[in-house]
Amino acid sequence: MTVINIADHRKDKWISGMAICLSCQNVWAAVAPAGTQFLECPNCGTVKGIFKLPVEHQGEHFRCGCGNWYFLITPKRIYCPNCGEDYSSIPAPLL
Ligand SMILES: [Zn+2]
Ligand SMILES: [Zn+2]
Repeated sequence: MTVINIADHRKDKWISGMAICLSCQNVWAAVAPAGTQFLECPNCGTVKGIFKLPVEHQGEHFRCGCGNWYFLITPKRIYCPNCGEDYSSIPAPLL
């Protein structure tokens, strides 16, 4: 298991939540620097752990007509990667 010295990362943004190992299906509560994609599993030691849920702030969230809530944003477009619907014309406060 990798031990991270928190003092070295005091100013970093951290995320926490339940994680699951894609290899052994172990589930645990994990804390990691924001942007971490894969976590070291405390059960089997592989680096195949992922957070079970995305970071989500409180409040209402926009959802595409197809039901998807995950969007891709480019400098010119905001669109649903599930059905391709383009939401670029929606005013920013609604997003
Ligand atoms: Zn594992
Ligand atoms: Zn959609």
